[in-house]
Amino acid sequence: MRHLIIIGSGPAAYTAAIYAARASLAPLVFEGDALGGQLMTTTEVENFPGFPKGIQGPDLMAAMREQAARFGAELVGSMVTEVDFSKRPFIVRAGARVEEAAAVIISTGASAKRLGLASEKALMGRGVSACATCDGFFFKNKEVAVVGGGDSAMEEATFLTRFAAKVTILVRSDKLRASKIMADRARANPKIVFKWNVEVTEVLGVEANHVTGVRLRDTVTGAVSEMQVDGVFAAIGHAPNTDIFKGQLELDKVGYIVTKNGSETSVPGVFAGGDVQDFKYRQAVTAAGTGCMAALDAQRWLEKTESGRA
Ligand code: NDP
Repeated sequence: MRHLIIIGSGPAAYTAAIYAARASLAPLVFEGDALGGQLMTTTEVENFPGFPKGIQGPDLMAAMREQAARFGAELVGSMVTEVDFSKRPFIVRAGARVEEAAAVIISTGASAKRLGLASEKALMGRGVSACATCDGFFFKNKEVAVVGGGDSAMEEATFLTRFAAKVTILVRSDKLRASKIMADRARANPKIVFKWNVEVTEVLGVEANHVTGVRLRDTVTGAVSEMQVDGVFAAIGHAPNTDIFKGQLELDKVGYIVTKNGSETSVPGVFAGGDVQDFKYRQAVTAAGTGCMAALDAQRWLEKTESGRA
């Protein structure tokens, strides 16, 4: 039986792994199939303290991973498929591999939301993308649309102007949710235009097998129009990765893990950190902070239980 299993591979999971490994808990980390988490699809991270010139998201994650490995965390690139928190030791399965642990930290993060249209699904990878960093290069001198009004949309749109001739940000209301600095940067970019009060009802081009445009509905008047674009990027927020924890832990109505007293979940000995339990801050630095809290809480809990006090 392990002292501690950590599930995830973003800033929360690796920070938890660094702290737990340094506390001689020899954590086993199931990193899943989206190694590095959301920072792998971002470009320049300008607000992580300690990097005055900024750092690329993937470089930051590679450094955190290396730091966790250096202190002896065992990193495994498998996806956890099932957990059983109903009794101790806890059971964590990754396909055929079954592990037992006295404590578990969950840092499975959140994933980008999709528009939920059949045409979006059909044209995924054929002009529809949720990752400008990954796919922006394919839109050299083309016209693209970015859906959303938050920081993600501003960031994706600004990044896409490196390649695209024109980027239209499609906002479903008449205001942005983005921070002022990100919104101002997008507004100042001559390649970016905003279209307000519009909702994408269909991605066009299914018959052609590549995106040719979008059908829009005016959210105020209901008027329907079409716009020609070669690419569509959805940047409309995130949903927590908690499917395997349903029925095992208390989740809120959206699916985020409910934590109290720092990182405690509804099951003693199971802790959570990062975006999987945080819909409010969702920053790399807060994820790292709550990952640290989870490791310290797990460590203290293990000390208590091992001495028979819990
Ligand atoms: P947000 O939840 O902040 O914004 C989502 C946006 O998408 C809103 O404008 C929302 O509109 C819109 N939206 C939601 N669903 C739909 C839909 N079905 N159709 C059209 N529009 C839709 O998510 P973000 O991913 O932008 O940001 C999440 C967090 O990550 C924030 O805290 C942000 O600050 C942070 N972040 C920071 C970055 C940085 O600092 N470099 C970069 C990226 C993100 P409405 O307002 O009408 O609900």
